Amino acid sequence: MATELLRVGVIGTGNIGADHVDRVANQVSGARVTALFDVATERAAELAGQVGAVAMPTASEVISSPDVDAIIIASPGEFHAPLTLECIAAGKPVLCEKPLAPTVEECESVIAAEQASGRRLVQVGFMRRNDAGYRHMKNNLSSGAIGEALLLHCEHRNPDVPDSFTSQMSMTDSVIHEIDTARWLLGEEIVRVRVISGKQTPNAAPHLHDPQLVIMESQSGVLVSVEVFVNAKYGYDVRCEVVGSSGVTSLGSQDLGNFVSDTRRTATMPANWRIRFGDAYRAEIQDWINGIAAGQVRGANSFDGLCATHVAQAAVRAVTTGTTVEVPVLEQPAFYH
Ligand code: NAP
Repeated sequence: MATELLRVGVIGTGNIGADHVDRVANQVSGARVTALFDVATERAAELAGQVGAVAMPTASEVISSPDVDAIIIASPGEFHAPLTLECIAAGKPVLCEKPLAPTVEECESVIAAEQASGRRLVQVGFMRRNDAGYRHMKNNLSSGAIGEALLLHCEHRNPDVPDSFTSQMSMTDSVIHEIDTARWLLGEEIVRVRVISGKQTPNAAPHLHDPQLVIMESQSGVLVSVEVFVNAKYGYDVRCEVVGSSGVTSLGSQDLGNFVSDTRRTATMPANWRIRFGDAYRAEIQDWINGIAAGQVRGANSFDGLCATHVAQAAVRAVTTGTTVEVPVLEQPAFYH
């Protein structure tokens, strides 16, 4: 007998939401898309037609639909917490894009509701945990191959961003990935953060500090440096290296290939996050589907989402005040062990 496919509803069908629809419909196994919602109703209807789903008039109707078993939230961040709370109330597993919510208070409300429901239902879209390069680094750390972690260096360069992008968004939208990466790789919390804005690129909007350097410290004193440069122009370039007490582990080359012609050797790099992390997004969605089939939610959980937002908000305060900001270390509820 054929196994029943998980019926997935997707809320928000912009950049990443449309990609997730395509991934569920065409690139992974065990699921199909049955319902979509976007305030851009024509976009949702067109996409629904392509994958045999129904475009619904509201997000709430997707969540409560008897034809939807699980939900992906890919709307703008401000809607994540209210929609996630609705999914928890409906008792349905949800993959919520990062951030879990832009404010600590909203993340706390999700955690409280999830615990009250008695079941882990929420996964947060920190997909670097599914990237082969980062997993390789994590293995080198946990096996002791490089000794104790002492320093973590991250670089996060985007080719460009819209004019609406702010210095705070560099922390809440971009650096938040590095924050989760640092917590996950090091297995400890970030306790302190400062942000330094230096010489400005001529290519950024005047209101945006770009590039910026974020310096964080972990509980055991590991120094984490993050360069965030969102108008780097030349391509999408994410790098990461851990310096340990007896060795170094890094992501290595991110080149997509190279060729030699007319005495020149040319390497091709990813143009954007979509290309660089395509395999990681696929692995994340497949793992989410498999986890639901096995009755577990895997990957980053609501507590990870809360901790990341805490640090990102501290980084925002560090940008606005120019000071070093302490981050409280939260006790992880047993529910999330
Ligand atoms: P986007 O292209 O602006 O897409 C968001 C979509 O949601 C748009 O179609 C938007 O419609 C729609 N929308 C607006 N209000 C809505 C509502 N109340 N309910 C449902 N849909 C609504 O943004 P995006 O780049 O896809 O980002 C979406 C989320 O994914 C963000 O939280 C972002 O941080 C996250 N993201 C994560 C990654 C990652 O690496 N994990 C990468 C990219 C994005 P309008 O255009 O008409 O407003």
